Order: sequence, then C-alpha cells, then structure tokens
Amino acid sequence: MTGAEIREAFLKYFERNGHTRVSSSPLVPVGDQTLLFTNAGMVQFKGVFLGEERRDYVRATSCQKCVRAGGKHNDLENVGRTARHHTFFEMLGNFSFGDYFKPDAIRFAWEFLTGDLGLDRRRLKATVFTDDDDAFTLWKSVAGLGDDRILRLGEKDNFWAMGDTGPCGPCSEVHFHQGDDLPCAEVAAGRPCLGPACECDRWLEIWNLVFMQFNRDASGALTPLPRPSIDTGMGLERIAAVLQGKRSNYDSDLLAPLVQHVARLSGKRYGADEDADVSLRVIADHARATTFLIGDGVVPSNEWRGYVLRRIMRRAMRHGRKLGLTEPFLWRGVDWVGEVMGRAYPELVRERDRIVEAVRQEEEQFAKTLDHGMRRIDEYTAAQGAGAGRAIDGRFLFTLYDTFGFPRDLAEEILADQGWQVTDETNATWDQEMEAQRERARARAAFGVDGEAPEALALYQHVQSALGRPQQFVGYETLTTPATLLALIADGRRVGEATAGDEVEVILDRTPGYAESGGQIGDTGTLVGRGGQGEIVDTYYRGSKLIVHRVKVRQGGFHENEEVAVAVDSPRRQGLRQHHTGTHLLHAALRRVLGTHVTQAGSLVAPDHLRFDFSHGASLKDREVEQIEELVNEQVQANTPVTYREMDLDAALAAGAIALFGEKYGDRVRVIRIGDFSTELCGGTHLDVTGQLGFFKIAEEGAVAAGVRRIEAVAGSAAVETVARRDRVLREIADILRISPEDAPQRLRKLLDEQKLLERQLAEMETKLARSKAEDLVSTARQVNGVAVVAGRIDGLDADGLRALADTLRDRLGSGIVCVAGVVDGKVSLVAAVTRDLTKRFPAGKLVQEVAQAAGGRGGGRPDLAQGGAPDASQLDAALARVYDWVGRQGA
Ligand SMILES: [Zn+2]
Ligand SMILES: [Zn+2]
Repeated sequence: MTGAEIREAFLKYFERNGHTRVSSSPLVPVGDQTLLFTNAGMVQFKGVFLGEERRDYVRATSCQKCVRAGGKHNDLENVGRTARHHTFFEMLGNFSFGDYFKPDAIRFAWEFLTGDLGLDRRRLKATVFTDDDDAFTLWKSVAGLGDDRILRLGEKDNFWAMGDTGPCGPCSEVHFHQGDDLPCAEVAAGRPCLGPACECDRWLEIWNLVFMQFNRDASGALTPLPRPSIDTGMGLERIAAVLQGKRSNYDSDLLAPLVQHVARLSGKRYGADEDADVSLRVIADHARATTFLIGDGVVPSNEWRGYVLRRIMRRAMRHGRKLGLTEPFLWRGVDWVGEVMGRAYPELVRERDRIVEAVRQEEEQFAKTLDHGMRRIDEYTAAQGAGAGRAIDGRFLFTLYDTFGFPRDLAEEILADQGWQVTDETNATWDQEMEAQRERARARAAFGVDGEAPEALALYQHVQSALGRPQQFVGYETLTTPATLLALIADGRRVGEATAGDEVEVILDRTPGYAESGGQIGDTGTLVGRGGQGEIVDTYYRGSKLIVHRVKVRQGGFHENEEVAVAVDSPRRQGLRQHHTGTHLLHAALRRVLGTHVTQAGSLVAPDHLRFDFSHGASLKDREVEQIEELVNEQVQANTPVTYREMDLDAALAAGAIALFGEKYGDRVRVIRIGDFSTELCGGTHLDVTGQLGFFKIAEEGAVAAGVRRIEAVAGSAAVETVARRDRVLREIADILRISPEDAPQRLRKLLDEQKLLERQLAEMETKLARSKAEDLVSTARQVNGVAVVAGRIDGLDADGLRALADTLRDRLGSGIVCVAGVVDGKVSLVAAVTRDLTKRFPAGKLVQEVAQAAGGRGGGRPDLAQGGAPDASQLDAALARVYDWVGRQGA
C-alpha cells in the first residue's frame, strides 16, 4: 500500500465507524500562541477535550500535518541521522469526545491493523499502563493476545497528561516486530532483548492510544472524568515503512522519491556513503518542513516561529553544500514535495509560487552570508599564516557565527581543509563566548530594549528598584489618575526639577498612559502639578518595562516627589482603540477570506490609521478586498463585546524556543477575544464593543517583500473621512464631465478611446505633412561632386517627425544625402540620413556631428541614420549651410 492509500484507508475505516473526517489544521496553531507548531492530531481538539468548546460530532478522525523542531521534544541535529526522526510528519488519529472508550478504541485499532492493513497478528504486541487491568483484559478478549504479548509499563512510557493539571490518563501502545536480526544493546551485553520495552529497533511502536480518564488538580490528585475520552496517534511515515517492508521511514514512498531527487541533483547514489546519506535524508525531511511551514504562512525570520523555520532551511542548505550543491537548490524541493503530497494537501499546489519565491529569497540571502563569512575566513588565514595543525581560535568562530550567522561546522570544515584544528581550547573559548552572549541576551530581554546606553539603563533600573513595587498601569480602566512624580530625567541624568521650555522624561508611580508596544504607538496627554503644566508628547518603555513619559513643560515647573494629575488624550486614545480592535478584526477576516496561511508579519496601530503586514503570495483581488471589508463591518454592526482574559505564560516561556529567541511576553498575558471571530494574545487597548469602531475601510493594499503583503486601513471617523474624500474627488470628476458620478467611469473610458483615436489621426496627418514637405525639399536638392544633397529646415517637427521626414526624403532620392533640422520650443533637433551606397564615404554620424557642433550642440549615430541636438537655434541656418561644404570636402 502506498502512503496515500494508507492515509485514505485509515480515514475511510473510521468514517465507516461513525467518525467525522476533519481536515488537518494549519501548522501554526489557530488561536494558540503558546505552542510553536501543531505537533499532534489532538491540538485542534484541545478545547473540545477541555470541555471549553463543543462540536456537532463526538467522534472524529484526521490526518494531521505536524512539525516538531526545537524545544524539548525534538533534537533537530538528530534528523537525518536516524531512521525515524523528522521535523515534518503526518499523524493519523481517531478521537472520541466523551463517547466510546477503551473497548472500542482497542477493537478499532486491532481490526484496522490486522484487517484493513493486513498486518501479521503474530508480529504485534501491546503495552498497557501498570495499573490498567481494563486495558490488559481487553487486549486478551478483543485481540486474543496471550499474557506474554501484553506488557505492563510504568508512568514514563504509558501515562499521558495534557499539562501539569487537566485531563490525563493511561495509554496503550501497539508494537510491531521488525526482526531479531537488528542490533540490540541488551543482547550484546548477554541479556535478552526487552521487546517493546527495549531501546532497540527490533520492536517498533506504531500506534499510541490515550485513554483520557482523569482530571489532575493542582495538588496532583486524580479524579475520574465524568465522560472519558480517546485520543490516538499513528505516524503515517512509520506505518507506511512497515507495510512496505522497509526499516527506515526514508525508504517509504512518502520520502524515498525526495531522497532520490536530491541524490540525482547532487550526483550521489543513496546508500553508497553514510555521510552523504545523512545529508540526503536531511534535505528530504527539511524540504517537507520548509514547504509546509511556508505554505501555512510562516516566513523565515529572526523571531519565534520564523527563526525555527530559518534554522531548518539553513541546515538543509548546509547539507546541500556538503553534497557539492553550491547553487540554490532547496526551492526545487517545493515541487518534489508537491509531487508526492499535492493531492492530499492542495494548499501546496495553490501556494506553490509564493513558497518557491520565499525559499529562493532565503537561499540567496544565505549565500550572501556565506560569502561574507568566507571573506572573513580568508582574511583570518591570511593574517595567521598557514594552519599546519594549529588550534582555531574559538573567539573567531564565535564572531563568525554571532555577527555573520555563519554556521560553525561549516567554518570548521573550511579551516580544517587548510590544516587548522578544533581543540579543547577552541571549544572552551567558544563556550565562554556563547555564555557571555546568553548573558547579554538575558539582560536585553529583562530590560526589553536594545541599544540603550548602559548609564541610562542603570538609571532606569535604579528608579525602578527605588519604586519598591511595580509601577501601576491603569490605562485599561481609566484615562486620568492622580500620581506621584518619582523622577525627572534629561539627557540620561536625574535633574530633580524642570521648568517651562524644558523637555524631560517623567516617571510616575502610576499612569494611564500606554507605552508603545505590540504595534500600538504610545499615548499623549497632559501632566498638571501644583505649580506647572506639561504636555505628554510620547510614552514608551525603558529599562525593565518601566513606563516613561516624554513631557514638554509649558508653564511653571515640576519637581520630583510632587503630586500630579495625569490625563491621556482621550479622542486620540479612542482612535488607537478603534484601530487596534480593527487590526484584530482585519487579521481574522484575512484568514477567513484568503486562508489560514495568513499570519501577521508586522503591524502598526496609530490613532488615525493602521498598517498590517501578513504572509500571502498574491495581490488581493478587488472582490477579496470587498469581502474582507464586508466581514469586518458585519462584526462592527453585530456590536460584539470585546473581552479579555489574563493567562499564565510561564510554561510557554520555559519552552526552549521562546526563551532563546527573547520573546518579550510578561508573565501574565492578555488574551483578547471578539466573540467567536477573533482570539489573540495582545496587551493593547481595545474597544468595549465592536460597534464603537463605527466603520472600517481598506485604503491601500500592496507588497512589502516576497510573499508579504501590506494593508493600510482606517476605522471610525478616519474611515468616514477617507470615504468622504474619495467621494469628493469622484464628484469633482463628475462635475468636470458634467454628468452624474455613476456615469463617470463609462464617460472617462469613452473619452480615453476618443483621445486615442484623435492621436492616431494626428499621427497620420503628420506623416502626410512630412511627405508633402519632402516633395518640396526634394526639389531643392543640390548636386555636390555628383551626389544629391538635401539640407533643409522645417520648424515644429520633433525628432520623431524629422526622422520620418528624413526617411521619406532618402527613399525619394534613391541615392543621396539628407540633413533636416527643426526647432521646437527653441531647441534644435537634427537628423541625417544617407543611402546605403554612400554610407562609406559620407557616414551620417559624422555629418550630424559636424552640423550639431556648428550650432553648439552634439550628435552621432549609425552611418545610415544619425541624430543630434543643439541649444542655440540662431546658429541653425549657418550650420545647415555647412552640409554642402562637408559633402564637398569628403568627396575631394
Ligand atoms: Zn532489544
Ligand atoms: Zn493586538
């Protein structure tokens, strides 16, 4: 059976057994920013399992695309070195939401494996959780397995939990016997193989059935769930390999064609050399992850999901170089993957061009990185002299890596070729540098700012610690508050006092002012004290999330420790709220209209407009823009409440990828919900209900980079003004045309058609005119040394007209020399034409040059046709007279 057939057989089997077939959800989890990528079939059903969400079915089956990369669960460096590690894979699953439980789950699994797939039942064993007597008994009665073929395993292997608290339960796995000829460490040590419990490959886990049976509370106590559920997962690549009699997933028909493509391209033979084989597998695997991730809207970048994608792509490119592929090649993988999987995942076909473009661009950028690095390596080796067994400086390797993004192993390889070595010292220095860099990154992340002067940083830090407790942001609830003025700072120094005319940074113990973040720009407002008044012109974060106001003192003065009243500019804030809520609505509408591959790539929220960058391959059609506007305005009219919930992100921060790439989320994050339409993680200020947005209008749509589009949009009165302005323009046009606005487009089209017609007629007239003038001029032809020469001036003809005239004259002469000139707007144009028989003796280029120079200009061209120009019309007649002279001189 092919992989595609197995996928379909699985889904069909469960459909036959009352399950609803549910499509794979995107790799970027919908509405869950705590998870890097979708990594299991149950991800899209999480809310259903938790009882937060209801679906109109209680049994589901899916084939879920998954990516595991980075974080605790998958070591990227292992992929390609083993038979089964992948970044991208497909997970077959069946799910029961409080419907059937263990007996059916076990029966389905057994029936499908031994019936539909026809696996030899003698090669199967099951494992159950130590205490799970139910499952043990069921495997005996349903599958007829003897006691010796059911293993009881502990919590580590056979107990599953969604998190520290929440649904959990025992699980049960089905294992397949690959063969006893495979190596086993136990056997090598003189002990028997442990079977399914063994680390070796003799028994392979193919299906995991999770029995969600308990709820675990914070104290760790388990209480039975009223309606237990089922979640199962079977890796498609693995079961395909088993059914196809292959011991490596890479030999299954899902991956082997990709391996072969890479092998052909690089001129290698798979299986000939282990090092090359690793590279071939790496590229096969990473091409799938790259294609699917970009297809689902991830863009290679230095942040979060984009960074993980970039790492995967660069690892593939590095292995490509190892195989001798120096030209961009990974983009070809998009079509290879499309060939194998395009039928099951039509988005690969639909998004093909965008994906290819994004991959190519990343490959070209990486090639530049490599070039930079190579130059540095050359400089290094030139400065150091021959390597001859010397140790590579770890600091140099680190600089290459840190500053240029040059991969360490590649640098090592290149240096090794020149006789350099990696020693313990190299590694020790590298580790030191890496630790120092991590320290810097931690400091940066803690202060939430980059590139700030250390003194200033220390100052903010000091103010913050003197505060004793966290500064209070009260801007979600109110726009005005009394506060204590804690510090006045000018030019990075505490100043204690400020007077009229000063511009200072003000730090308060509490403030309603929103500091610029998450795309939303900072608040402005007023500051009033006992003896002074100031204008808040900007609000931003400094130090470790310290809110700082930039204040222009207008009257009197301020001093530290005085009581002040702070007020945020309310209409401006209202504009910010409208455009921020508008941004969320737009994001959700884009995903509904264009597809779930749309993800935010950047955003700006201002009081009078918003800008939203997102991944999408094509420009938006008018119809799509209208649909998006309609969807948003529908939500506005529905007047849906905008609600928020605070949530813990500690767990998310602990996951390697987030911490490593310095995501700047606080410990508590706000989840903003707009009914069922939109859910986003966001700290911004939002409307209470969508109706306050008033009206939404897309003003502009365009491209910012390959695969990234930008929308500029307006909400509220800014949207009304935009429409009013456009309406005014339309009315003005209609006024000029003296018709109704509705008729304007048709009338304009008609006018343009008429204009084109007139232009054509005019051109025809000009040609006719030139012809009749040519007649006149031909009669003025003079014979110089037996050559017919025409030199004439016709003002009002531009260069094109003159050329047409010169052509006609030349034809009329049959054999001869023509030089015509004309003046338009005081400037001279010149054209010379010479018949073929005379070009050797009288090159037109030379003639034009002579005449143009005589009029103070320049000219040149081919021997048969040349043109020139001059600024001074007063010299033209004299210059033209030289034509006969020149011909005479050439002939002599
Ligand atoms: Zn073993
Ligand atoms: Zn937001």
